[in-house]
Amino acid sequence: MKLITKSPEETEKLGEDFARKLRPKDVVFLVGNLGSGKTTFTKGVAKGLGITTRIISPTYVVLRSHSVKNGPIRTLYHFDLYRLKDEKETLGVDFTDYLEDENGIVIIEWPQVSQYIIKRKTWKVIFQIREDMREIEILQE
Ligand code: ADP
Ligand code: MG
Repeated sequence: MKLITKSPEETEKLGEDFARKLRPKDVVFLVGNLGSGKTTFTKGVAKGLGITTRIISPTYVVLRSHSVKNGPIRTLYHFDLYRLKDEKETLGVDFTDYLEDENGIVIIEWPQVSQYIIKRKTWKVIFQIREDMREIEILQE
């Protein structure tokens, strides 16, 4: 499914709608350049899940966890691996607990460096910048 969004609000709304498709243990890869809308989309997902804490990009901390109050999904694990240079650095992050959480959802910005470590992937969302618009493709893996 490929869509065009014309504003950050539209991208957020797309994330909010997408959240309805998510099931516990889903792993979502967000692929796209800096400023292409990955965090904006994640804000929408969080909103869709009923998360009320503010979503800011975990660029410097790698991971931010957000609790969900109701429903089968209890935690959103939001990763940003931008600062990890290669697979070797990624090995320093133990993803096991997060991937195995029966009530968790894992969303990863800049997942490229982790592709050999994280083999389970449920969704891939590809963001492309088209001037003031964004082309967003949602793929179920
Ligand atoms: P990323 O996490 O991919 O680096 P962000 O979501 O943090 O990107 O930032 C996207 C930036 O692009 C924001 O400054 C936002 O205002 C701007 N923007 C412009 N048009 C759009 C759009 N259609 N969707 C999402 N963001 C947009
Ligand atoms: Mg980001």
